[in-house]
Amino acid sequence: MTRLAVSYVTSRSDAQTGARPPGLGRRPPAIIKGMSLPDLIRSAAAEAGFDAAGIAPFRPTSELSYFREWIEAGYAGEMRYLESRAEGGELKRSSPEVVFPWARSVVVCVINYNTDRPRSTDDPDPTRGWISRYAWSQRDYHDVVFERLRRLEARLHELAAQPMQSRCYVDTGPLVERVYAKYAGVGWVGKNTCLINQKLGSWLFLGVILTSLELEPDLPAPDRCGSCTRCLDACPTDAFIAPYRMDASRCIAYLTIEKRGDIPEDLRTGIGRQVFGCDICQDVCPWNRKAPATSTQEFQPRAGLVNPALEWLAALHEDGFRETFRASPVKRTKHAGILRNIAVAMGNSGDRKFVEPLRRLAEHPDETVAGHARWSLGKLGATEESKVP
Ligand code: SF4
Ligand code: SF4
Repeated sequence: MTRLAVSYVTSRSDAQTGARPPGLGRRPPAIIKGMSLPDLIRSAAAEAGFDAAGIAPFRPTSELSYFREWIEAGYAGEMRYLESRAEGGELKRSSPEVVFPWARSVVVCVINYNTDRPRSTDDPDPTRGWISRYAWSQRDYHDVVFERLRRLEARLHELAAQPMQSRCYVDTGPLVERVYAKYAGVGWVGKNTCLINQKLGSWLFLGVILTSLELEPDLPAPDRCGSCTRCLDACPTDAFIAPYRMDASRCIAYLTIEKRGDIPEDLRTGIGRQVFGCDICQDVCPWNRKAPATSTQEFQPRAGLVNPALEWLAALHEDGFRETFRASPVKRTKHAGILRNIAVAMGNSGDRKFVEPLRRLAEHPDETVAGHARWSLGKLGATEESKVP
C-alpha cells in the first residue's frame, strides 16, 4: 500500500467536471452477449473478489507530471525506488508509456480491508502502540490481492478473444496506481492523498492490470472533499504542504517504515504512539465513518496487533519478531526498526513504567535503537538514573 508514493495534486478540473479524458483513437467497445466488454470485466472483477473496479485510459496526466516535481522537491525522502528511471533517463512513474509502450488501458480493482475494530483516534491510550490498520491482516495483502488479480487477468484474456498483452501489479510496479484509480472512477484522491470511494471509504488495497486492449474508460470520480480540512488539521507532523500535497519525508508512515537510521529529533514527538505507519488522516475522514467492514478472512486482525502493548513488542527477540510478523508488511521495518519506533513511542507516552524497558533498549547493540532509547529516557526525565551520557 504505497500511499507514500502517491502524493500529488489531483487534476481537480477533470475530477469536478467529470469530463471524459481524451481517448487515443479508441475503437467502439466490444459487445458480448448483450454486455460491453468493460461491463463483463467489472462483473468478472466482482467474481474474483474485488469490491469495486473500473477502467482508465493509459495516458499521460497532470498528476504524473506533478510526480516528477514532487520527486525533484525531495518530498520522497530516502525512497529511492520511487526515482527509478528508464534507459532514456525518464522517471518511470511519470512516464509509464516509456516502460509499457504496448499498454492502452488499465483495469483498476480495489478490495476493502476495513475491519470492525477501533480507530487510532478513538480514545487513544498513549501507553499502547499503534500499527497501521492495513498491516493487521493474517496474510500479506500483496499476495491476497495478486491472487485475485491473476484470476481476473485470466478471465480478461478469455473475454478479449484476441491476442492481448497484460501485466498485473499490487504496489510493486513503476506506477502511481491511484492516479489510474481516479480515472477509472473507482474513487477520488482526497486532500489526504488517499483514494476514497464514496461507498467504501479509503481502507482500500489497489491492484491494477495493464492491458494492450483499448477499452472504453470509465468517467473519473468527482472530488467530494468539499470544504473539509480534517485530515490536514489532524496531521501531527505537519506533513501536508497543501491540500492534496504531502511531504512524505515528514509523514509518520515514512518515518516508521521506510526511514532507516535516525528519525529527525524534531519529528519524534509528533510520532506519538505510532510504531508502524499512521492512520490518523484516514481515521478522521468523514468518508470512513460508515466504511463497511470486510468479510475477507485474510484481512481479519492477528491477535495482539490492535493497540499492541509496547512492553510485549519491545520484549520480542529477533526470532519472535520474525514469527509474529511472518507474511506481514510489518517485517519491512526489520527488528531493529520496530525497536527504534517502540523506543520513541515509550518516550512519548510520558509513562515512567517504560523506564526499565527503555534502559534495556539503551543497551541494544544497534546504535540507532540505543540512541532513540536514550532520547526517550531523557523525555521521561530518567537520563541520570539510566547513567547514559
Ligand atoms: Fe502521514 Fe499520519 Fe500525517 Fe497522514 S496524519 S500525513 S499518515 S503523518
Ligand atoms: Fe477530504 Fe476531509 Fe477526508 Fe481530508 S478528511 S480526505 S478533506 S473528506
